[in-house]
Formats: sequence, C-alpha cells, structure tokens
Amino acid sequence: MSFLDLHVIDPILQALAAEGYTTPTPIQSQAIPIILGGKDLLGCAQTGTGKTAAFAVPILQMLHTAQAPAKGNRTIKALILAPTRELAIQIGESFSAYGKNTRLRHTVIFGGVSQFTQTEALRNGIDILIATPGRLLDLLNQKYINLQHITHFVLDEADRMLDMGFINDIKKIITKLPLQRQSLFFSATMPPQIQQLSSTILKNPEHVAV
Ligand code: AMP
Repeated sequence: MSFLDLHVIDPILQALAAEGYTTPTPIQSQAIPIILGGKDLLGCAQTGTGKTAAFAVPILQMLHTAQAPAKGNRTIKALILAPTRELAIQIGESFSAYGKNTRLRHTVIFGGVSQFTQTEALRNGIDILIATPGRLLDLLNQKYINLQHITHFVLDEADRMLDMGFINDIKKIITKLPLQRQSLFFSATMPPQIQQLSSTILKNPEHVAV
C-alpha cells in the first residue's frame, strides 16, 4: 500500500516523499479514502499514529483540486480545532510541509499572545484555519473571522477538549458553521460524552479505530 494507491495527487505525493513518508500508517490508509470520498469520519486514534496527515492530506487535496483561479478574496474553507497551542502549531507545521507544492494558505491562531499578527494573517486571506477554541471565539466575536464558507471541519483530540472545559465553546463554534459541510472528529477515547458530542457534529459517519 502506498500513498499513490490511496489516489493522493502528485504535488502532495512529492511533499510526503520529501518528509520521508513512504508507506501510509493504518489510520492514513483507512481514513484518506473515506475523507476523499466526502464522508464524515469518527476516528479513534492517539497522537503518534499519523492522524494529522490522515486529515491534512485529503483536505489539502480536495481544496487544491477545487481551487478557483486566484481572483478576489480568499475565504476560509477548512477549520481545524485543536485543544492546545502546541498541538495547533504542530498541525500548522504539518499543513506547511504537506501543502508546500500547493498555493493554499493557512494560519494558526491561539490565545495567550497578542492577536495582532493573527488578525493581520487573517486579513491577508487564508484557505485553512487552525485554531484553539477560545481565541477563535474571541476573533469571531470581533468579526475578524467568517466561517460561512467552511466546507471541511476537523475536531482534533475531542476528549482533551472536553477535559479542558471547551465543550460550550465548541458548541458555540458549531452554530457558526454551514450545515452543509464535511466533518471529521478525532478522539483517543470514546466515553459516552464524546459519543454524544460526535453525534451532534457528524452525519452518517464512517468509523475508523487504530
Ligand atoms: P501524528 O500522530 O499526526 O502526531 O504523527 C506522528 C508522527 O509520525 C509525526 O512525527 C509524523 O511526521 C510522522 N508520520 C506521520 N505519517 C507518517 C508516515 N506515513 N510515514 C512516516 N512518518 C509519518
């Protein structure tokens, strides 16, 4: 099994090869075809399994393939929510690496620092936003962010989100998303509270566990 077998397109294949990835991990070989097929996904996977590429690669591919000529303003088409600043930054680095041969742009926003450089990046126009919930809500309330063009939504490490008390923030953010979207939900554990949350976000999801 290779990334080519998963129908990953050339610009992204080259970027993965440059990272030294030759073989997809189990979560990648299971999740990538489901995501490229447009389905919602409930993924039970820990950090270290390669779950970031499992969602970043197909999202980059779908946005790259759909990309309209660079005219007018960019809109945010993918939103990735992560529980911590460290994880958000890591996810941003993954999008940089895997998306380096695309013209897609992303930025990472998180709390605890001045919002100025983050709002500047947003003003310049991005396709993909990686965010922690608190700062995202803050900038949404200040009207720096419009989520009405989101086609792909990822909730990463959902169980940690709950542990950290982000449940209400997440629920508020979800009300700002279009109903018509693809949603991907990742959690290392699936207690009842997480299953309940996933059922409010996902439509007819495929399940993957590694
Ligand atoms: P993650 O679970 O997304 O945090 O990824 C864990 C680590 O595995 C990261 O350092 C990735 O760079 C690496 N990785 C992800 N996918 C692959 C792959 N297919 N081959 C080799 N390394 C990978």
